[in-house]
Amino acid sequence: MDQASSSAQTSSATSPVRVRIAIMGSGLSGICAAIRLRKKQITDFIVLEKASGVGGTWRDNSYPGIACDVPAHLYSFSFELKPDWPHFYPSGREIHDYCQMCVDKYHLASHIQLNAQVESAEFDGRYWQIRLTDGRRIEASVLISGLGGLHSPKHPDIEGLESFAGDRFHTAEWNHNCSLEGKRVGIIGTGASSVQVLPAIADQASSIKVFQRSAAWVFPRIAHKIPESRQALYRRHPWLMRLNRWRLWLRLDILGMLSLRRDSRMNRRSARLSLGYLERKVKDPELRKKLTPDYEVGCKRRCISDDYFSTFNQPHVELITDAISSVDKDGIRDETGQHHSLDVIIEATGFHPISIADQVAIRGREGKPLSQAWADGIKSFRTVMVPNFPNFFMLLGPNSITGHTSALIMIESQVDYMIKCLMLAEREGYNCLEPKADFTDGYNERLQKDMKRMTFDGGCGAWYTTDRNHNFTLWPRSAMLFVLELFAPNRSEFLFS
Ligand code: NAP
Repeated sequence: MDQASSSAQTSSATSPVRVRIAIMGSGLSGICAAIRLRKKQITDFIVLEKASGVGGTWRDNSYPGIACDVPAHLYSFSFELKPDWPHFYPSGREIHDYCQMCVDKYHLASHIQLNAQVESAEFDGRYWQIRLTDGRRIEASVLISGLGGLHSPKHPDIEGLESFAGDRFHTAEWNHNCSLEGKRVGIIGTGASSVQVLPAIADQASSIKVFQRSAAWVFPRIAHKIPESRQALYRRHPWLMRLNRWRLWLRLDILGMLSLRRDSRMNRRSARLSLGYLERKVKDPELRKKLTPDYEVGCKRRCISDDYFSTFNQPHVELITDAISSVDKDGIRDETGQHHSLDVIIEATGFHPISIADQVAIRGREGKPLSQAWADGIKSFRTVMVPNFPNFFMLLGPNSITGHTSALIMIESQVDYMIKCLMLAEREGYNCLEPKADFTDGYNERLQKDMKRMTFDGGCGAWYTTDRNHNFTLWPRSAMLFVLELFAPNRSEFLFS
């Protein structure tokens, strides 16, 4: 057993365990960091996971139809390609299995502490003093956040919701004990989760009413199984699989970026593609009108589905566009006064995009809370670090989510950058490094300037942006640029101690 885990398991409430590196979270970010550290022969680390299993969002979300919008061969680590992905787009279960496979293959289990929720982490001038909710303490030189941002379900704030007498649950908290067979089901919301759930449950319910506040831009998914023969080919010739990954990498990055540019020809073409698809799938012009978005493609997350639109053609499925005014014990009342009697309400209402600072009380130099450092807007150094928070690294932190390609590209780049930063500090003979504040400010100004060119800059109420229309979630450039920017740390951008 590794030093980190053996000592952590014997820790008590009074004596802190010392490790070199503490990673918060065992989703794909935490798993990636752990594997890369081991590959660099760094084994003195611990992964702190608040839940009882690994996999992060792919552990938590288990609703019917859950899948990833990114092709499986790109939604996997570049160092752990998988020849036998059975579907072009992986299901949630397949990704969760992939996470578990990585944990097993790279012997990560001994590093992972389950049911270990970090309450606070404070930098004492040399070490990060980490406190878990159960009182245990850990002292680490380096703190890595793999906390993710979309795991706090947003329950809709609707009058009377609590009084509903039937079953009611959020997509991220799916009640697998509740059979929908023959039930009258209401779905609130029409984002990425709803677009997947609706077709998956349409056969079971006796009726489904979908309550839409804004229509989604939906594109054909063209989902298919990857034939056995192709899987065998990839097993025999892994270079072909890598070539395919590069093809997907470039295709998604180039087309995705072009189509998300404000007022671009590709953006207009995307809109035509989606509207043409809607026209082919839905014959009723009134229904088509209701399903037509009134904002730019990409301002909210684009959805892909082969059967979302066509599900509305079924006689027992109805789209309600009148706003919800209240919920009572029997169902939902809309703003026209019409009452919709229901047995089950599914909240496909998304998540609170909480920042790391809201999840864990992180305090940097002189006890300054991260929440305070971000009081005027969340910003980071190259998406990974924050001035005055030495040896603190964030994976999929501010401005590193993309709406057009695989998050794993970002995670891998950030992890490798983080390791190079640690090696740089070591080479220079220092224990800690942190980014310079002036560079960070300039970096963010340039980032937000580039954001203005993108359709997801705001104006449509997407979760990407804050009330002040500040987008601290998405990366406004290509994945290629992201990788290049994080290729190697530049000594002049850091302070060492
Ligand atoms: P979402 O995109 O935030 O969508 C939430 C939906 O609920 C929206 O249609 C929203 O309407 C509606 N809504 C929220 N509160 C409401 C209320 N009080 N009354 C009526 N409608 C309400 O959430 P999501 O679908 O769970 O997706 C969240 C994110 O998770 C995605 O953006 C994506 O990053 C990720 N995800 C990815 C996949 C995938 O890979 N396929 C699948 C699921 C989720 P408005 O638009 O008007 O606010």
